[in-house]
Amino acid sequence: MANILVTGGAGYIGSHTCKQLAASGHTPVVYDNLSNGHHDAVRWGPFEAGDITDGERLREVIRAHKPRAVIHFAGLIEVGISVADPAAFYEANVYGSLTLLRAMIDEGVNSIVFSSTAAVYGQPEAVPIPEDAPAVPINPYGETKRAVEAMLGHFTAAHGLRYTALRYFNAAGADPDGDLGERHDPESHLIPLVLSAALGQRPHIDIYGADYPTPDGTAVRDYAHVSDLATAHVAALDYMTASPEPLIANLGAGAGYSVRQVIDTCRRITGREIKARNAPRRAGDPPELVAAVERAHKRLGWRAEISDLDTIVSTAWAWHRGQAGEA
Ligand code: NAD
Repeated sequence: MANILVTGGAGYIGSHTCKQLAASGHTPVVYDNLSNGHHDAVRWGPFEAGDITDGERLREVIRAHKPRAVIHFAGLIEVGISVADPAAFYEANVYGSLTLLRAMIDEGVNSIVFSSTAAVYGQPEAVPIPEDAPAVPINPYGETKRAVEAMLGHFTAAHGLRYTALRYFNAAGADPDGDLGERHDPESHLIPLVLSAALGQRPHIDIYGADYPTPDGTAVRDYAHVSDLATAHVAALDYMTASPEPLIANLGAGAGYSVRQVIDTCRRITGREIKARNAPRRAGDPPELVAAVERAHKRLGWRAEISDLDTIVSTAWAWHRGQAGEA
């Protein structure tokens, strides 16, 4: 149908989205500097190497492929690193997004889906968190995403840009066909860490905080299957074709699981011993983050379909076993 420029398309959520774009008749053109992505995850369209801060290169790629829209995943994602090296985050996430928007406006590309995050909410006052809850990020990572959301609004007012900002909660799981999975380095996400303990690649898993005001004392998060997230991006492209109205929407399952529930599910599904030990809370980790998901349903017709914890863990387990040469 049309070319779609996918920045960061060699990464975890981007590669799963490319697969669904192709299944929906689009051609994903991946633009990535491979700093954290994987060339072998680019399988559904052309690959263009480039940095998101390189405006000349972006213009060249846009001229060559004439994309109808952009899906913008590229950026730095690790909260802890954003605290230690905020400049790198402002450069890649804010300056990179600005450079991309300029190139789009110059070359006449008018629609963008942006990867935002639950981290824009900081310490929420109440859960589930609606999109109109205050955006008060508590780390540089969340702050860079909030800044880009604001920038998108200004570009809409000035240039008629159409945008959808999707605030993901925790992306998890792997492609159900086994084609793709999560390969972050360093890995900081809970489920891959627990599964690496199941594979004997680490001696135990640390539980950061067992004294939260939650049913079992551990932090509660909303896990959405990465293939469900991918579907929402395809829906956002259709939405922007039909409507000029900017959209900011949470993407989550709308249900929370505690760290202990995740570990117990991993034990049951893998049948392996997984040692866990309690560790102090990490600064800035809220007790509970769960998405209010009505807006994505109403505006995009989207709901998480395969985001139950068993499906998330079993697809991730199949992928990680394969990576470890077990399957
Ligand atoms: P990822 O690291 O797997 O993917 C990011 C991709 O961007 C990588 O392929 C990387 O090589 C590329 N990239 C990084 N810096 C670049 C640069 N300067 N120029 C060009 N390419 C660059 O991360 P992910 O988990 O797939 O996350 C994708 C997006 O979703 C990110 O913007 C992230 O902030 C956001 N997000 C992710 C989660 C999650 O749970 N994984 C949650 C909320 C938001």
